[in-house]
Amino acid sequence: LPLPELIRFHATIDGRHTALIQDEKRLDYAALDALMDRIAASLQRDGLGSGDAIAICGLNSIPYAAVFLGALRAGVAVAPLAPSSSPESLAGMLKDASARLLFADAATRSALAAAGVEPGIPVVAIDGSGNLPFERWLAAEGAKPAPVDISPDQAFNIIYSSGTTGAPKGIVQPFSMRWTHVQRGRINGYGADAVTLISTPLYSNTTLVSFFPTIGLGGTLVLMAKFDAGAYLQLAQRHRVTHTMLVPVQYQRIMDRPDFADHDLSAFRMKFCTSAPFSAALKADILRRWPGGLIEYYGMTEGGGTCVLAAHEHPHKLHTVGLPAPGHDIRLIDDAGREVGPGEAGEVVGHSPAMMKGYHNQPEKSAEAEWHDPSGKRFIRTGDVGRFDADGFLILLDRKKDMIISGGFNIYPSDLEAVLRQHPAVHEAAVVGVPSVRWGETPVAFVVAREDATDGADAIRDWANARLGKTQRLADLVLTDSLPRSPIGKVLKRELRDAYVPRGP
Ligand code: ATP
Ligand code: MG
Repeated sequence: LPLPELIRFHATIDGRHTALIQDEKRLDYAALDALMDRIAASLQRDGLGSGDAIAICGLNSIPYAAVFLGALRAGVAVAPLAPSSSPESLAGMLKDASARLLFADAATRSALAAAGVEPGIPVVAIDGSGNLPFERWLAAEGAKPAPVDISPDQAFNIIYSSGTTGAPKGIVQPFSMRWTHVQRGRINGYGADAVTLISTPLYSNTTLVSFFPTIGLGGTLVLMAKFDAGAYLQLAQRHRVTHTMLVPVQYQRIMDRPDFADHDLSAFRMKFCTSAPFSAALKADILRRWPGGLIEYYGMTEGGGTCVLAAHEHPHKLHTVGLPAPGHDIRLIDDAGREVGPGEAGEVVGHSPAMMKGYHNQPEKSAEAEWHDPSGKRFIRTGDVGRFDADGFLILLDRKKDMIISGGFNIYPSDLEAVLRQHPAVHEAAVVGVPSVRWGETPVAFVVAREDATDGADAIRDWANARLGKTQRLADLVLTDSLPRSPIGKVLKRELRDAYVPRGP
C-alpha cells in the first residue's frame, strides 16, 4: 500500500464498519471519513497546510482521534501533549512546536486559566464546551479539503518524549515512520477484523503504534479515557476485543485481579506491550492465562532500535526483548563509540526505515543522539545497555543513566529488581544508585510490599543480599506505598534518587 492510503482508507473499507467506539458512542468509517474531511477543510480554511503544526491536549476521545487523523489528511503536523504537564510546560511545548491551534479539553483549559497561562493561539474546545467549541470550529457538513501532496519525510508528529530521564524533547516523526508502524502492524496481525482496546494516552508513541495499524488497516478501535483494570476486562469481554496494547504495569494490575478468570477473553488474538521492562514471569503468566499471542516491542519514540519478541513463539526467550524488527539494524557500542565484541554488553544503537528527523529546535541534542558506523550509516542511540544472546535475541540490561557504578563495578538495577521480585512479600521493586563516599555510588531499593506481607524492610534486604553478588549488595531498602510513575507507567527513578534520605551512620 502506498503512503496516501493511510489517509484514504475509506476507498477500501466498508463505510458501515465501526471505526471508533467510546462508552456508548460509535463512529463508522463513512462518518469518520466525512469528519476527517471536515477537519482537514477547517484547517485549510484557517490557513494551515504542510509545514504547519497543531497541538492537542486532553484525555482520549473520539474527537481527539478524529483531529489526529484529519490533520494527517491536510498534511498538518500534530503535537499531542500530555495533560499531566504543568501549564508552564504546556506553554513551552506549544511555543517549541510553533503550534497554530490548540485543541484542548475542559480540564486543560481550566488548568491553563488557573495558572494565568495564555496560550497565545486559538483554543478549540475538543469536548464541545467553551468559547470555541469543536462543532462551531468545524466546517459545514459535506466540506471537502483541497487535495494535498504529502512527502514521506515531511513531519507528521512532534511527540514530546516521556521525560523519564530528563526534560521532554520534541521528537519529529516523519509520515514514513507512521507508515512503517502500520506495515509492522500488518505483519503482526492487525487487519480489518481487529477490535483493538486502547487505554494508554493518545499522546504517547506507545499508543500510536497500535492506533495507526488499527485505523490504517480498517479495524475497530475501542478507546478508554482512563485505565482501570476492572473496567478494562469488562470492555474486553463486551466488545469481543481481539487486539490490545498495554504497558507492563497495566498487565500486572489486570493479572492481579481475583476475577480475571471470570471474563470471557476468548476473542483475543494478539496482545502487545512496550515502554518499560516487562518481567519474564509476568509474560509467562499472561501466556498461561490470557488467550491469544503476546508481542513485546522494544523501541523508542525516536525510532531506530526496534526489537520484537513474539513471546508465544519463543517461550524460552521471555527474558529477552526479541529480535531486531525486519529492516532494522541494531548494534552495540562502547563508551568510545566502537562496536563491542560478540556477547559483550554495550549501548544499543539502531537504524531503521523509520527514524525521527531529529529533536525539534535542538540540533546539539539531535547530533548527540546519533551514531554513524564506519560506512557512514546513521543510527540512533537509545541510552539503553544490552547484549545479544547466542541466537541474536537482545537482552536489555538497563538504561545507561540508571546503571550504578559502585567501586568500579557496573551494577544493573534490573538484575537486583528481578531478585527482589522473587521475595514473597515484594509486590513492586525499584533500585537506584545513591551517592556513597566509599563506593562512589551504592544501590538502594524501594519496595512496595504485598498487603499480607509480614517481613519488614531489613528482613527483605538481608534476604536479597544473601542472593546477590558481593558487589551488588543493597546498602538500604525502603518500604513505600507506591512507586512514582510517569502517566505511561514508567518508574521515575530520578524522583526516587532525589527523595532518598540516608538512614543514620
Ligand atoms: P526520555 O527519553 O524523555 O527520558 P523515554 O526514554 O522513557 O523518555 P520513550 O521513547 O517513550 O521515552 O521510551 C523509550 C525507552 O523506554 C527505551 O529507551 C527503553 O529504555 C524503554 N523501553 C521501551 N520498550 C521497552 C521494553 N520492551 N523493555 C524495556 N524497556 C523498554
Ligand atoms: Mg528516551
